Amino acid sequence: MIAPRNYHRWFNKQGLDFIRDALMPIANAAQFGHLGQEASTAYVIRLLALLNRCNFLKKLVLNMPQFQEGNQELWNRLAATHNLCLGQTIERVSRGQTILVKTTSNQWEFERLIWTAPVDDFLSVADASTEEADIFSRVRTIKRAVITCKIEGLPANIFYVIRNTLNQPLPTSYPLAIYEVDPGSKIYNFYPFMDETTTIEELESNVVDCVKKLGGTQVTPMGQPLIWKWFSHFLTEDLKDGIYERLEMLQGSQNTYFANEMTAGVSVPYGMEYAAYLVKRFF
Ligand SMILES: Cc1cc2nc3c(=O)[nH]c(=O)nc-3n(C[C@H](O)[C@H](O)[C@H](O)COP(=O)(O)OP(=O)(O)OC[C@H]3O[C@@H](n4cnc5c(N)ncnc54)[C@H](O)[C@@H]3O)c2cc1C
Repeated sequence: MIAPRNYHRWFNKQGLDFIRDALMPIANAAQFGHLGQEASTAYVIRLLALLNRCNFLKKLVLNMPQFQEGNQELWNRLAATHNLCLGQTIERVSRGQTILVKTTSNQWEFERLIWTAPVDDFLSVADASTEEADIFSRVRTIKRAVITCKIEGLPANIFYVIRNTLNQPLPTSYPLAIYEVDPGSKIYNFYPFMDETTTIEELESNVVDCVKKLGGTQVTPMGQPLIWKWFSHFLTEDLKDGIYERLEMLQGSQNTYFANEMTAGVSVPYGMEYAAYLVKRFF
């Protein structure tokens, strides 16, 4: 596990300064935002490994896959072979000989539990062991927003990442990536991050400023910004102390398994692959 505090030093040590300069604005736009400097190099490499799955041409011209209809087909296929109980909020998990799961309107008894919601939600409803409580309370997240606007005068079909943000840092709440949701629709998504002080007005005025700099006009927001809890991660010190080894040791203890962003890493592909790994390892 590579976990030096500062990825600048790591890239420099490997003689890869030019790669840092080219890739970190993209990595920060995609995942780390203002956390850029502090994020463990292990997370940076994990993200870059994901981007590296795009073919050479896509990487070269930064032509990211235009998002299609989302991941719905994946969930439809999974749902087809499972007994689903939708709309159930889990309120209590109690583990003894069997595992009792209580929701707002039901109670079930299981032999095993695979928890796929965020781990902080596990802490708020489950009879967490001391080890589970200690590991999960170390999870950190940041906030990011998605702002959707109709805009005149911007190029069609763009996926744009602001460059040179290492040398000329932008405010946390400035959008770092922009793309047209549906080619030709003139509807664009903007991706800024947020900190404790960020206001909605600030998010919106930064979008207007960014559009102006790109030569666009007539910004019409399509609704309120959507605000997301983002990037479950551990601090570098925890990585150094072997937190991921401890997390893996939890798997199967009290017939409970965890498959989510914290065990898998950010992204749907990593989530799917981790779930498959867990099945292979235990079931
Ligand atoms: C704005 C945004 C854009 C993204 N874009 C991409 C992308 O383009 N490509 C990509 O690969 N990844 C993308 N991601 C990342 C990806 O969505 C996450 O990494 C992934 O969804 C994490 O999976 P998860 O199973 O841990 O959590 P989630 O997908 O968040 O699923 C957890 C589920 O648990 C439910 N839940 C929580 N508490 C309870 C409870 N008590 N009872 C019952 N249910 C509960 C939640 O409602 C939720 O449905 C994006 C994320 C965001 C926020």
